[in-house]
Amino acid sequence: MKKIRTRALFVLMIAFFVMAGMVWFVREDYLHGRRWAMAFSTFDNEAEGQLLDCNGVPLAAFGKGKRDYSGDYLTRVANYHVTGDFNGMSGTGVLTRFWGSAQDYDFVNGTSVRRHGTVFLGVDAKADNYAYTLLNSSGKGTVMVLNYRTGEVKCLVSCPSADPVDTEREVEDSAYLNRALSATYIPGSTFKLITSAAALESLPDLETMQFTCWGEYDIAGIKITCEEAHGVQTFEQALANSCNCAFAQITVQVGQKRMVQHVTDYGFLSGHTINGIYTSAGNYPLTFVGDPELAWSGIGQSVDQVCPFSMLRYVAAIANDGVLAEPSFLKTAQPEKTTQLVRPDTAARLQQLMRNNVKSHYEQYISFPGLELCAKTGTAETGAGTSHSWFTGFVRSETHPYAFVAVVEEGGYGLWSAGVLVNDLLQFMVNGN
Ligand SMILES: [Zn+2]
Repeated sequence: MKKIRTRALFVLMIAFFVMAGMVWFVREDYLHGRRWAMAFSTFDNEAEGQLLDCNGVPLAAFGKGKRDYSGDYLTRVANYHVTGDFNGMSGTGVLTRFWGSAQDYDFVNGTSVRRHGTVFLGVDAKADNYAYTLLNSSGKGTVMVLNYRTGEVKCLVSCPSADPVDTEREVEDSAYLNRALSATYIPGSTFKLITSAAALESLPDLETMQFTCWGEYDIAGIKITCEEAHGVQTFEQALANSCNCAFAQITVQVGQKRMVQHVTDYGFLSGHTINGIYTSAGNYPLTFVGDPELAWSGIGQSVDQVCPFSMLRYVAAIANDGVLAEPSFLKTAQPEKTTQLVRPDTAARLQQLMRNNVKSHYEQYISFPGLELCAKTGTAETGAGTSHSWFTGFVRSETHPYAFVAVVEEGGYGLWSAGVLVNDLLQFMVNGN
């Protein structure tokens, strides 16, 4: 009897919550329904506009109650994380941002109210199509290319992706997630670029130091390991070898306080915005962890998490002599804003070091024809026996000043998955092959 009474009470409570929820929903819909619909319904039939890529290829258009996307399936899916959609399924697309604020803000010219307009994007839709085809065959992940002189996004692809026209079919799990802007990953050895900057500015004797690697290094009983014994190395060689044993020692010498300072200053712990679209903040050990954990954090493991966009900002600033041209989806000849993100002397040395990585190591495996490439690989252990493959860096070029970041989830070695992908993509974007 007692059991039945308890159950009856339980059912009554559920009924109460369902009713309360419905009342709340009706009230919210009445108060804010127009905003929810993002005014794409009949609310603002006057608005007209279109999104074009840097070559004038139409990606989306709206006007007189009509909403269109590209007629080409590949273009729609490959560019989905740039355009977003009219339904707000992806909250990080330009369309969502543009339209959501079209009532009181002119996305093109600044602040005045404007309801008609053509938005020229810096993105090259053909590059997105090409990148999507490459990445989709590798699995999940993202690739993003930025003009480091102007800040224009030239390419942004995230896989899996969705077709904005097809709202009936079930989309793949996490397809609406923009992995370049809204995801964070364990950075693996790409993080050595940050540790290197901290070391260059903290350790006066860094460049004359020697680091011996026997394949493993013991800190307070905890073993830091490399895949092979790298022997005696300079700092420059240790970065090119991506030697964990050397970078463990370097990180401990830099100390946690200065590591945290650099990670913070370079923006890895903050979310950022690109045309008002928010990006994800990363993670780094902030409370005292002791030398072994600190060593792991300096080689991009521990609790480190990095948003691909944050890594791209950092390497773009290195490429541009320490000055970040603020990233933007809009086509522009001049950066909207510039920030001194990295000290000029540090940026200059990192450029050389990243060039040396490619010349002394990566080019043994991939030739990168026609590209003066500066880069760093990352093979980020996920703890589940798999690794995310990272490749980040930039091309030294006056005509194609491109910085890039690529992550292939569970792609194994950085150079094999992400490195091969970036080379293929840059051959297409820079050399037209
Ligand atoms: Zn080593």
